[in-house]
Amino acid sequence: MAITTTTTKQTFVYPFGPELPCPPLKSELLGGKGKGCAEMASIGLPVPPGFVITTEACNEYRRSNRQFPQGLQEQLKASMLLLEKVNKRTFGSRDNPLLVSVRSGARVSMPGMMDTILNLGLNDSTVLGFTNAHLGFDSYRRFIMMFSDIVYGISRKVFEQAFEVFKIKENVKEDHELSVEALKEACKVFKTLFEQHAHKPFPEDPYEQLHLAVAAVFNSWDSERATLYRELNHIPDDWGTAVIVQTMVFGNRNSNSATGVAFTRDPATGENHFYGEFLVNAQGEEVVAGIRTPHPINLYQKTQTKSTLESLEESMPEVYNQLLSIVKRLEMHYKNMQDIEFTIDDGKLYMLQTRSGKRTGFAAVRIAIEMLEEGLIDEKQALKQVEPGQLMQLLAPIFDAKAKKEAKEFFVAKGLNAGPGAASGKAAFSSDKAVEFKEMGLKCILVREEANPSDFPGMVAAEGILTTRGGSTSHAAVVARGMGKPCVVGCGALFCNPDARTLTYNDKVIHEGDAISIDGMTGEVFFTSLPTSPSEVVQVLIDKTKKPADSLIFRQFDTLMKLADRYRSLRVRANADTPVDSDVARAFGAEGVGLCRTEHMFMNPHRLNDVRCMFFSTRAEDRKAAIDRLQVHQKEDFIGIFRSMNGLPVTIRLLDPPLHEFMPNSDEELARVAESLNISVDELSKVRANLHEQNPMLGHRGCRLGISYPELSQMQARAIFEAAIVVQNEGKSVHPEIMVPLVGIEGELVHQKALIDTTAEAVFAESGQKVPYTVGTMIELPRAALLADVIAKYAQFFSFGTNDLTQTTFGISRDDSAKFVPIYVKGIENPLNSDEVLHILADDPFQVLDTEGVGQLMKLALVLGRKTRPDLKCGICGEHGGEPRSIAFCHSLGLDYVSCSPYRVPVARLASAIAAISISP
Ligand code: PEP
Ligand code: MG
Repeated sequence: MAITTTTTKQTFVYPFGPELPCPPLKSELLGGKGKGCAEMASIGLPVPPGFVITTEACNEYRRSNRQFPQGLQEQLKASMLLLEKVNKRTFGSRDNPLLVSVRSGARVSMPGMMDTILNLGLNDSTVLGFTNAHLGFDSYRRFIMMFSDIVYGISRKVFEQAFEVFKIKENVKEDHELSVEALKEACKVFKTLFEQHAHKPFPEDPYEQLHLAVAAVFNSWDSERATLYRELNHIPDDWGTAVIVQTMVFGNRNSNSATGVAFTRDPATGENHFYGEFLVNAQGEEVVAGIRTPHPINLYQKTQTKSTLESLEESMPEVYNQLLSIVKRLEMHYKNMQDIEFTIDDGKLYMLQTRSGKRTGFAAVRIAIEMLEEGLIDEKQALKQVEPGQLMQLLAPIFDAKAKKEAKEFFVAKGLNAGPGAASGKAAFSSDKAVEFKEMGLKCILVREEANPSDFPGMVAAEGILTTRGGSTSHAAVVARGMGKPCVVGCGALFCNPDARTLTYNDKVIHEGDAISIDGMTGEVFFTSLPTSPSEVVQVLIDKTKKPADSLIFRQFDTLMKLADRYRSLRVRANADTPVDSDVARAFGAEGVGLCRTEHMFMNPHRLNDVRCMFFSTRAEDRKAAIDRLQVHQKEDFIGIFRSMNGLPVTIRLLDPPLHEFMPNSDEELARVAESLNISVDELSKVRANLHEQNPMLGHRGCRLGISYPELSQMQARAIFEAAIVVQNEGKSVHPEIMVPLVGIEGELVHQKALIDTTAEAVFAESGQKVPYTVGTMIELPRAALLADVIAKYAQFFSFGTNDLTQTTFGISRDDSAKFVPIYVKGIENPLNSDEVLHILADDPFQVLDTEGVGQLMKLALVLGRKTRPDLKCGICGEHGGEPRSIAFCHSLGLDYVSCSPYRVPVARLASAIAAISISP
């Protein structure tokens, strides 16, 4: 039922509940949490009634200088009246008070990034309406603290310290053990603390409380941590958050009450086991904030974590079974692993949230494959369940097993394995310190008692996260998993002292800056730095030290990859410069080499000397001799690559980089090089001065080199053809594609192609054998894209060099972009409205393809090129070729292939399949 008023037509508020009609189930309007509650209510699950204030209301509020949009206040009032009716309680009444929670809920889950207020509606009068006075005052003191923190920014610590005094006085350990008198007194003290900090009395009017709370949740969308989270997760700024106002149920009512969070499957490993944590006599925040170490939800988890705490399965078996059947129902309904929140109020179960659960890359693959095998989802759904970038976690190193054994004496304790992979670094005891280490280029592990959302910048900066308290559903764990960071939580055997900046285990102690290692897969912590070894997938695929049968992770990864291959239409190649790279790429499923940067073959010291001699020697005969030597090396490398890529195409690019990259910088090195070239320092200095360029990236590089030094292109072409013949004679099938870089003018390609073709003829004549080959070009300059129809007359293929194409389209140097592009992306204050952040760019265009500008040039080049040559093969070999969103764009353009670094090949295979399923080109 939509609440509208006469003042506005726009619906900002949608009620939901068991007896209420279901609102439109759109997460873009209701946010994920709002949609989840409404949807659960609509399928008959026990959800406390409530209403959702839409994301549109939030955005209107943000646009109109933080004023509620017209009509919102009236709609809030009408919805509260409706809630009163269905609950048969009254908001602000002393006799039978209605209390609500006010929770944030963005379109996608942003765990812990925004704010929640519980028990709203309490004041000195309504608290007396509780027949259970303990519950009333316990809820009231919680409310004052949360409200003060979230609406007025008064630190919770202020209240927590005051609260501890009561616990000491009454000599109790747990909050709920306090007497009613103590709680009553605590409420008084809390209100005084509020007045001292806010310089006004605590608001008693429940509607004033509601309006302030809603505004605070809206504001939390723009908090520093939420903004950083959005930035990292590519969440648009203009989505806004919804606000869920919901009838309170009380997990802190008595010992027959509890609150918990759970995942329908294990979010760290993906195992099909109901997995969660709960606390008796507590309210929601306590479980996720990691203040008390929660209890395992069932016996399985109890055994897994070697916990001695009583599980829900043991303490409330009936409720546990009810929860289990709801969990099954939710998985059937959503066809995905869910992350749920529940509360048990005096033995009655309520569902407070369901959303698709964040999981590690390992868990994502396992859940997708097992749900497919269980018949719960189909193949397309399985593919879409894994974010392509998450596959990198399966390829990331783990601790070296031997090193781990040898470091036994440094092993100190085992916590919960909450995030994937292994990490070593310096211990950092605060978020700021972690950021500082990162800025100094040092790896660190963020060590906290419990991580809360304000630690987010430190979590981003650190290699891994360790907490001594909190469960695997704590914010630290959820956020770490989302970022794919190694994380160990709840490591209670360790004592963290953030003031002294020490971490202690019995008599062992480490200080800030000391080495520490954590294994997010096993939960182990070591007070030392540990070397890593390849992941299981790499051990099977690349190193061949493990058999597929011995690795479930590998087998599931392999199944997913094969599935992806069945659905994708884009081919996936690799950027590989050496035979070793090519072998790795092929093992990861590359279908050819999309870019072999031949200049990278010259980087080893012996060859570098020959390259220098070739470019800088003042004697023609020395230059010629150097070229001959280089040809031998190049041929060797090409032989290796062709062998590795037997049957697959190999795109080899002629020399591209600016010459100054090969010139020594220091005078000392110059002298050494002069000696090795057997010329005087003066002569070499003159050569260096001649070669100096103001803007080398736009200078003497790319095909311009091959035009100035035709003998270079000829040497490279000869090395390619001779190598191809050698490998062909071994019975292998060789498909060289020779690529001319940085072409902007038709004549440049004509010239280089002529050199390549005449060299081919010469080599074929000498050997009496032929090899099929093609000649093409990179499209890296706007002029090449604009004149692609003309260029295509001489090019059999195009490869979009989007690194340079981005550089030249934006006019932003790829080497200097870091000075300002991050600020463009992060946003700057809008000069017209200081409350507004202006994002000049949504993403760094060197990371995510700029589809609006660079993408348009690609589209144009493709259309023009294929007009001239309908069978023109087109691919991409810039860094964007391994980036999932850019890959989706390449698919929609109708490119033939993407090419990326070998380790990103699995990512590209999956991203291409997801694009094929989701987008029709
Ligand atoms: C490109 O410009 O996108 C490209 C692949 O070439 P390089 O990065 O070597 O300039
Ligand atoms: Mg380039």
